[in-house]
Amino acid sequence: MKKCNNVEFNINNVGQTVELCGWVSKKRNLGGLVFIDLRDRSGIIQLVVRPENKFYELASSLKTESVIKATGEVVERESKNSKIPTGEIEVIVTDLVLESMAGDLPFEISDDTTALEDTRLKYRYLDLRRPTLKSNLMVRSKLMNVIRNFFYEEEFVEVETPVLCKSTPEGARDYLVPSRVNHGKFYALPQSPQIFKQLLMIGGMEKYYQIAKCFRDEDLRADRQPEFTQVDVEMSFVDEDDVISTTERLLAKVFKEMKGIELSLPLQRMKYVDAIRDYGSDKPDLRFGMKIQSLNDIFKNTEFTVFQNVLNANGEVGCIVGKNCADKYSRKEIDKLTEYVKTYRASGLAWLKYSEGEFSGSIRKVVTEEELHAMKEQLEIEENDLILIVADKYNVTKTALGELRIKLARDLDLIDKNDYKLLWVVDFPSFEYSEEEGRFMACHHPFTAPKDEDIDKLLNDKANCYSKAYDIVINGYEAGGGSIRIHQADVQAKMFEALGFTLEQAKEKFGFFLEAFNYGTPPHGGLALGLDRLTMLLVGTENIRDVIAFPKTASASCLMSECPNLVDDKQLQELGINITEKGQK
Ligand code: ASP
Repeated sequence: MKKCNNVEFNINNVGQTVELCGWVSKKRNLGGLVFIDLRDRSGIIQLVVRPENKFYELASSLKTESVIKATGEVVERESKNSKIPTGEIEVIVTDLVLESMAGDLPFEISDDTTALEDTRLKYRYLDLRRPTLKSNLMVRSKLMNVIRNFFYEEEFVEVETPVLCKSTPEGARDYLVPSRVNHGKFYALPQSPQIFKQLLMIGGMEKYYQIAKCFRDEDLRADRQPEFTQVDVEMSFVDEDDVISTTERLLAKVFKEMKGIELSLPLQRMKYVDAIRDYGSDKPDLRFGMKIQSLNDIFKNTEFTVFQNVLNANGEVGCIVGKNCADKYSRKEIDKLTEYVKTYRASGLAWLKYSEGEFSGSIRKVVTEEELHAMKEQLEIEENDLILIVADKYNVTKTALGELRIKLARDLDLIDKNDYKLLWVVDFPSFEYSEEEGRFMACHHPFTAPKDEDIDKLLNDKANCYSKAYDIVINGYEAGGGSIRIHQADVQAKMFEALGFTLEQAKEKFGFFLEAFNYGTPPHGGLALGLDRLTMLLVGTENIRDVIAFPKTASASCLMSECPNLVDDKQLQELGINITEKGQK
């Protein structure tokens, strides 16, 4: 059978006989006629069944979401509906087949459904009938197609890598799979194909990509799922600029074909330290301004002890300025902002408003006229501006103000939802200090190459060692990231030493991988883009479940299939596994 798309038909098809299939989206009896909104993947078309029709009874008895096949003649409608593409026509039914009658539905299939997400997840196949979800999956499919075409044209090889593997060093918790034939041993599901793609470079593939499923057993947030998809890329004989420009060409094609938007290349690059300084984040949203500004110079001789203490301890007095919004923030509203910055470990929030030539606010009485004047000049304060100040350790001040900046932009509706701002954040530190572990850890992964000029700092100046890592940031989301890898054995040995591994420990953890480097390793590097996140950005949702056909909940379970689930004792016996305490069902 050749199925037509409902929305293929319009006023030009009047007089034609058509055969249509789909779901009864709505049915109503009006003036003795039965009107059916027939829905298929493409959209809605109106069917009309007249009383003299022998299928009139059947049409009257149809329940919503039943599946039918209808034949009929396209006619021009009397009262047209400009909201749908087929709104100028309707189909007068001559033949009707009931393929399957639907029972009572757990919720109404509509984009403005009020059903709880849990109910919709339990009946995900019904939820998928909603136009928005369906269209999101179609966008995702098109995106994958654009990506595959791009890599094919650029002579990349698509290679599948194993799903049952050994732990990779990405740093999140692994999902483990017990081995039946090797009792007590486990596979790990890949957190990413990192090791395999590097081995493919050693294997001589030169240009690899894969649309790969990755698995991380992390605490979930709105934009995270335990299993997610990466567009994974690796290239040989390249430097940072090569990987970056290849990715830019890919993104230009994606935005052109998916959105009709011409990206202007090359994209902006921002150093990590500058991103933190100006935006308090390594994934700044550049769709709005409100940069973080330092007030350290203004307050360097202040009498105000709170600022004095912070500056004496090498901390940071920083602020953001909300333009022309002071009147929108009452004392109560500002208290809420104070609570907000406290969740990012800031000790408090100081504020000033400027109105009719006068400053007022929490620190008005403790700062001098000169300091106020200097602030007015430096921050270019105008009527009705609001200054929000955090004084704390450098990173705390930056993070808290960075988060506050986003909150303010959202509250004040400063973000144009149709705008896309892409940038690279580059020159990441090689290490970050973990207070928990009391040592420096790899910022990216232990195979990330340090900047050539920083190789000598690996062992004795870790805090000032930067790497050849880069992230692509879109509208405040990290859409992807990667690095040039270490390909010389001596530098890799130094890196392991810097991370506190002995060569023996490193060999135990990554043995087969390290061995491969002994037989001729090309310089190589790559990156991975988050396919789910990219789709989210393209369709404009903040919920990752909106772009995945069968997603998991925040507690990593599938409400539809009810997994994870208990398994038979026999299965456990075969695996040699003894459950000591059964979790709650
Ligand atoms: N494997 C890395 C990640 O998943 C990406 C890369 O370095 O290519 O973040």
